[in-house]
Amino acid sequence: MAGFLKILFRNLLNGPSTDPYPMGPTFSPQRIRGRAKVDPNLCMGCGMCRYSCTAGAINIAHLPDGSGYTITIWQNSCCRCASCRHYCPTGAMSVTDDWHSAHPEKDKFNRLEQQTIKYTPCADCGALMRPVPAHLAQRLYAENKEIDTEKIRHICPKCRRIEDAKRTARRLLTPAPEPMKAAELTSPRPQDTR
Ligand code: SF4
Ligand code: SF4
Repeated sequence: MAGFLKILFRNLLNGPSTDPYPMGPTFSPQRIRGRAKVDPNLCMGCGMCRYSCTAGAINIAHLPDGSGYTITIWQNSCCRCASCRHYCPTGAMSVTDDWHSAHPEKDKFNRLEQQTIKYTPCADCGALMRPVPAHLAQRLYAENKEIDTEKIRHICPKCRRIEDAKRTARRLLTPAPEPMKAAELTSPRPQDTR
């Protein structure tokens, strides 16, 4: 009896060891997969997330006037698999730690993550397009220092192909350096004379 009272008083002094949820706040475990979210600044409308979504929870619809598109994630269909985040090439898709999903019946069709994203004109030809995110352009063209990544990310795929062809032509038409003279070839290199 004394042991029981000891434990009882110790627990009373320590207070509750469970959260008061749903009457009060609780915590989000680290690395929990909650609500999927799309960053409109990074999304290019490639459709990879829709293609890879195991639950068919993502839709991409073009605006009637062709000025952009709307990407929608149906939260009530999403099974939190994070496949969209895994396959998104730009990092636009993320899975937040918002795991709350209780909602009134009347809201079941309103639980959407939705972004309407507008196209911008290509810097060269004016065709409507989505700019390549800056971090992606820097990675794509990291090995080619002659490319202005800030410019190229604002031109459409067709104009990028034209730019690429021009660069190739310049490279092919640039005269090759003079062949080394026989005397240079036979003279000892500095390290050979040490
Ligand atoms: S969120 Fe990512 S995968 Fe989905 S359309 Fe946008 S860029 Fe493509
Ligand atoms: S987390 Fe899975 S089910 Fe949810 S939107 Fe992404 S791919 Fe679809």
